Amino acid sequence: MKRNVAVVGAGPVGLYLTVALARRGHRVTVVDRDPGPPGDDDWERRGVMQFHHPHAIRDQAVEALDAEMPDVHDALLALGAADAVLPGGIRAGVHCRRPTLERALRSAAAAEPGVTVLTGHVRDVIRDRGRAAGIKVDGRTLAADLVLHAGGRGGTLGADLRPAAEDQDCGIAYVSRHHALLPGAEPGPMTNAFGILEQHDGYAVATFLQDARTFSTLILRESGDQELAGLRDVASYEAACAAIPGLAAWTDPERSRPITAPRAGGNVRNAYRGQGALAGLVHVGDAVCITNPIAGRGIATSLMQAQNLVAALDAHDDPHDVRDAFDAYCTRAIRPWFDDHVRSDPDRLARYRGADVDLDRPLTSGWIVETMAASAELRPLILQYLQMRVLPGELAAIEPAARAVYRGGWRPPRPAGPDRIALVKAISGGGAYV
Ligand SMILES: Cc1cc2nc3c(=O)[nH]c(=O)nc-3n(C[C@H](O)[C@H](O)[C@H](O)COP(=O)(O)OP(=O)(O)OC[C@H]3O[C@@H](n4cnc5c(N)ncnc54)[C@H](O)[C@@H]3O)c2cc1C
Repeated sequence: MKRNVAVVGAGPVGLYLTVALARRGHRVTVVDRDPGPPGDDDWERRGVMQFHHPHAIRDQAVEALDAEMPDVHDALLALGAADAVLPGGIRAGVHCRRPTLERALRSAAAAEPGVTVLTGHVRDVIRDRGRAAGIKVDGRTLAADLVLHAGGRGGTLGADLRPAAEDQDCGIAYVSRHHALLPGAEPGPMTNAFGILEQHDGYAVATFLQDARTFSTLILRESGDQELAGLRDVASYEAACAAIPGLAAWTDPERSRPITAPRAGGNVRNAYRGQGALAGLVHVGDAVCITNPIAGRGIATSLMQAQNLVAALDAHDDPHDVRDAFDAYCTRAIRPWFDDHVRSDPDRLARYRGADVDLDRPLTSGWIVETMAASAELRPLILQYLQMRVLPGELAAIEPAARAVYRGGWRPPRPAGPDRIALVKAISGGGAYV
């Protein structure tokens, strides 16, 4: 059955669906408020806060590309991305900035016969006898027999027809910056497939190797922490990078130079929202599930959804069946990641404030993951969880053993660097950390 499809949102999910469905012979119109990249100039991409923040793009996302559009993976590599490979040769994802990923997907969509790319704001879904019949784009009407809402975390299309979102503020805020490696310089020390991730006393830092010899640095703080809010100023950010050894190794002026200003981002949430009653309207990507970005799962869970939705559309003609099959997949394979964050993120925040592990209740995943450093026996399953090869519920099998590690007195070692108070002092010009 060939469909006339309207895709709302030309982010990673909307573009993926556009390409995959057009290659099956469906007619696809994809609409976004954003007009797309302005030549080689900077692409501001208003409305997608995270666009210029670092992204770790996991292997599930690469697998989704390889399954439907391996040429996009090749295009990423041609744009300077590189596969992220763990010791032992396991591919963990791809080193790639978010704009690079979207440029490659946009080019593939624009080149695809049967695709129309429109700039405009989709105001509503047209409803006709209990079914979606198209969309209203600014002042005009676009008929469609299937509407895919890939409007991202702020997408509100058809909200009146859906169950309310379950929603939790993660309580953290971002400041990040992009850098370029100097000619001949190697990336800094890496402790995971993408760079480093360090939980300090009162804040966290990360680096992400990206494409074309660039990388990003990131400092996370509690969103209510006004003293660290000053990190968005260049001088403060540079003072912080110099003070925190994990970042200093990457931002050493002998190794790299900054290529953007520090950029702040907030309102970071976990959210999950199921499908609605209107047949022929399917919500997908961040419009269904958002998880704390520090775990870098959003593009993976979003493209896993998109890939599954394409399969559901292959398998079913009736729009009710498509919706039900897709909703069941999301409940089974995507929602557990949301639930895991809802349970474990409060502990993550409490650790920022110096809280110790609470052994009077089951350990949440963040605490279980840490025990990888203490027990070789627990490591294999924890690695599978970290790589999203098993669902979070599988960690229950090792919870008692992880708990025993803490009962024995072990605690995760703090990485070298200032505590929060010393960092505040360092960025306020109050002296270097020693
Ligand atoms: C700070 C931060 C850091 C992140 N880091 C990572 C990471 O390291 N790794 C990772 O995998 N994920 C990360 N994510 C998550 C990832 O960015 C999202 O999962 C991803 O953007 C979801 O893609 P999407 O296509 O569903 O939505 P989006 O990328 O949000 O795209 C939605 C598009 O729809 C358009 N749109 C919405 N409504 C309308 C409308 N009515 N009319 C027209 N256009 C509309 C918007 O303009 C936008 O272009 C991060 C998220 C945040 C907030």
